[in-house]
Parts: sequence; C-alpha cells; structure tokens
Amino acid sequence: MKIPFLDLQRITESYQPELQEAAQRVIEKGWFILGEEVERFEAEFAQYCGTTEAIGVANGLEALRLIFEGYKLLGRLAVGDEVLVPANTYIAGILAIQHAGLVPVLCEPELETYNIDARRLESEMTPRTKALLAVHLYGRLADTQKLEAFCQQHDLLFIEDAAQAHGAFVNDLSKRAGSYGHAAGFSFYPGKNLGALGDAGAVTTSDLELATVIRKLRNYGSEQKYSCEINGFNSRLDEIQAAFLRVKLRRLDADNQQRQAIADRFLNEISNPNLILPLRSSTNNVWHLFVIRVENREHFMNYLKVNGIGTLIHYPIAPHQQKAMPEFAHCNLPITERIHREVVSIPLHQLLSDEEVAYIIETLNRYEQ
Ligand SMILES: *Cc1c(COP(=O)(O)O)cnc(C)c1O
Repeated sequence: MKIPFLDLQRITESYQPELQEAAQRVIEKGWFILGEEVERFEAEFAQYCGTTEAIGVANGLEALRLIFEGYKLLGRLAVGDEVLVPANTYIAGILAIQHAGLVPVLCEPELETYNIDARRLESEMTPRTKALLAVHLYGRLADTQKLEAFCQQHDLLFIEDAAQAHGAFVNDLSKRAGSYGHAAGFSFYPGKNLGALGDAGAVTTSDLELATVIRKLRNYGSEQKYSCEINGFNSRLDEIQAAFLRVKLRRLDADNQQRQAIADRFLNEISNPNLILPLRSSTNNVWHLFVIRVENREHFMNYLKVNGIGTLIHYPIAPHQQKAMPEFAHCNLPITERIHREVVSIPLHQLLSDEEVAYIIETLNRYEQ
C-alpha cells in the first residue's frame, strides 16, 4: 500500500463540483478583489469562530502582522515592545512580530502538549512585555483559560495564531479557536484544515476598532478608493479564494470530526513502546497534524518510507537555530530543541480509508528500533 503524507488531489476532488461552481460564479461576475464573496466569507467565518468580525487577508503571516500593526496604530503597542511566543512554533509567528518592529521573546513549550507553558511565562516578563502570541500547534488548543488569566493579570494583549486549529473548541460550540484572545490570525494555506486553492488568510476579532483599522491596512490604508488615511499594505483576500473557502467551510466540522475519529484509532491501537504518541484530547484538538516522538527519527522515517508511508517533520530546525535568526543563537531552549530533534508527523486527513488507517497502525506496531 502507498500512503502519501497528504493527498491534496483527493481532498480537492472531494469538494467537486462545488468548487467548480464557485469558480464559475466568480468568473462570470468578473469582480475579483474585495467583493461579495469576501464579504460573505467574512460574515460566515466570524459567525463560525464566534467573533463579531473577520477580515480576509492575503495569508497567515500577514494576518498576524496586521494585528500587530493595527494595535500599534491604536496605541496599544509601540516599536520595541516585547511579545511572548512559543519557541517551537512555525517561523511565521516570530517573523510577524519582527516585521511589525516588535521583539519576540521565545518561551519554552510543554513537552506533552507542544503548546506554550503558562507556568514559565512569569519569568520571561519585563517592563516592555505587552503581548502574548499563543499558537494552537498541530491543531490542539493552547490552555486558553490560563493564558487569558495571565494576560489579564499583566495587562497584555492576548493574540492567537490559529493557523493550525480551525474549528477547535472547548465545551462551547459557539466559541472556537480565534475567539479566545483579543484577535487571531488564520492561514488558509492549501494543506490546513480549512485550505484555499492558493494563499489566503484571515484575522478574527470582536474588537471593532481593530477590525476597522485592519480593513484599511490590508488595502493601502484606504476605505474609500484612492483615499489613503493611513500608511497601509496590499494584503487582500481574492474573491475566488473566498468563494472556495465558503464551499469548504460548510464541511469543516465534518472533516474535523473525521480527523478526530482517525486520531482516536491511532491513539487506541498504536501500541509500540518506541513511539511517544500525542496526548489524548476531545474537541479541543482538530488534529492538523498527528505528531509522534521517536528517538532515532531517521531510522523510523526510512522504515515508513520503505513501507510506502509518507512522513514530514514539523519542524526540522528550531527558529532560534535558523540561519536567518542569529539574534536568537544564544538562547537556551532544551525542550524546544528536543522537540525539533524527535518529532515526526504521520499521515492524517479526513479521507484516509479504514484500510489505510489499519495499514498505518499495523506498520507502526511492527516497527523495531
Ligand atoms: C501555516 C502557518 C502560518 C502561516 O501561514 P501562511 O498562510 O503560510 O503565511 C502561521 N502560523 C502557523 C502556526 C502556521 O501553521
């Protein structure tokens, strides 16, 4: 059997003919930037997440950056302010902080959840600390209750990077990832749980002032054509991508439930003592990735490859060890480094068949170190 890490062709095919119809609708209309599709998607996505506002933007990196830029314009942040961020996140979050002229402070995650460790935040605080960027890594919600309390106590902005956690929630269906903080950034990169057919992103927030500023910022600082009120960017969501996203949003919950059912099977049936499986969870994890830890990762990945199973590493190099980030080279982050040394992701998406899931389980259980 051959199981690629991610079968985007099969996933995209499963939304036909609705995607074709959406494309046709936009083509016939002949209006491609900031129109009805974006407006409707924004309303539908805000309602889904449980915020009053959603603003479509070009991608996930820009979504995060525009949140920081927006709060600078509102006087809540200033150049040089520090932002707490998990050290093991995807590099976009760290870049977004830097692009806005702010200073990322890399914090260790919990080894068990891979999310930022609320108990370690106090010691990272300085008088310049003004915000926390929590990342719901691999699809699992960070401890939003603890983090929110911490932010309240220290008067910090609580920002979520929800690029891997579309639809995750705890208990209350009407409040999902993207509605826990002051604002959140989403990516709709094709491989995400909610993915466009190209680049796309969004900001969600219930802060109307922030939403108003970001709506201007994404479009050259103007609300009215050619009237520039603030110094803005070009970071817009295309009509055609919004139309595709509207199709896929309708099935997001069903897709996530399918991912959860497969993750449950993995957790119940993979029983190899050489493999450290992710923590069990409920609706608070939408399983963007199923990440295992293993000591001799190369050996394990090669074994799976020989057996036809694709894997990927999320992520092979820690941000503070990237060549592009020499300013963090001195950081001492043993948990982060261990995670980057040991993690490997196995295939998990909503269209894996029962046979494929069984084959993955059986192959993993046969692995010998
Ligand atoms: C994908 C991702 C991003 C960036 O999204 P782009 O749309 O590729 O810019 C940011 N943060 C996390 C955690 C991501 O997984």
